[in-house]
Amino acid sequence: MKILENEELRNYTTIKIGGRAEKMYFPQSPKEFSDLLENYGKEESLYIISGGSNLLINDLKVFKKVISLKEMNCEISQIKDGKFYIGASVPLQKLINFINDKSYGGIEYLYSLPALVGGAVAMNAGRGKIHKLSISDYIEELHVYDFEEKKNKILNKSECDFSYRHSVCKEKKIFVIGVIFNFEKMEKIESDKRKKTRMELVRRLQDNSGYNFGSVFRQNNKYLMQIIKFIGLGNSKGVHFSKKTSNWIINNGNGSFKEAYNLIEKIKKIHKFLGFNAITEVILWK
Ligand SMILES: Cc1cc2nc3c(=O)[nH]c(=O)nc-3n(C[C@H](O)[C@H](O)[C@H](O)COP(=O)(O)OP(=O)(O)OC[C@H]3O[C@@H](n4cnc5c(N)ncnc54)[C@H](O)[C@@H]3O)c2cc1C
Repeated sequence: MKILENEELRNYTTIKIGGRAEKMYFPQSPKEFSDLLENYGKEESLYIISGGSNLLINDLKVFKKVISLKEMNCEISQIKDGKFYIGASVPLQKLINFINDKSYGGIEYLYSLPALVGGAVAMNAGRGKIHKLSISDYIEELHVYDFEEKKNKILNKSECDFSYRHSVCKEKKIFVIGVIFNFEKMEKIESDKRKKTRMELVRRLQDNSGYNFGSVFRQNNKYLMQIIKFIGLGNSKGVHFSKKTSNWIINNGNGSFKEAYNLIEKIKKIHKFLGFNAITEVILWK
């Protein structure tokens, strides 16, 4: 297995904040991944990273072991008609282009995410809440490694507990190895149009002035967030709430974990004080 030592985790995240991994493992197959987890103690903390696009990692901490799933399972194949097997390490853009070329589609709105399939499924990535669209719409079953039971399993959709930005992987130590999708038939001309529309929308609405990890909260009060955005409440030198994209924190390049964490906590406290609830979407490695 490929193992790197003293890796800077900031380089594996889109927000470019993070501490160091004493050892960083890159399993090259599902078998190498499950063998690696077999050797973890039941109580040991698991730090697992895919695209790193929804992670805020403590930059003052040294993590003993971190596992990157970037090279674990890159398999991508059509089983029949709209049915596909996709490995957890496949980037979303590659998945979307692959199915579009075979005249299937449905998740072109995820074309702009810098995520891998495993991470996107674990987070149940999708469009904003009002659109009621997420990657799980097309999932038939998940091939996973269950850490508690220390074995590979197949979960049918009803066992995956999908809801808005949620899956069974967020509650239990269950890791996506591969996914069986069933996509809808779609003419290439239509899927190309959808991808183009998505990229135009992203260019217009998303703040690319610094580094980010997409939405901070999966639940918040949008009016309160607008006010916070405009008065720049809690902003610091390195990190601030985007004026362009609601619910996004921007790291100008020198931002720290502490600054981003304090900002998030401040917003949560303000919500609570005013009787609202703010629930984070971003995963924190404290
Ligand atoms: C520019 C930008 C735009 C974004 N737009 C959107 C959007 O429109 N919609 C949306 O939903 N999100 C969006 N996001 C957030 C992010 O892309 C998603 O949450 C994505 O699903 C995270 O996938 P990842 O591969 O980067 O996972 P990571 O960030 O690496 O990991 C996220 C969590 O999943 C766990 N995990 C990773 N791989 C696996 C696996 N194989 N099995 C089980 N658990 C795993 C990790 O341990 C971690 O807890 C955006 C982010 C950015 C930077």
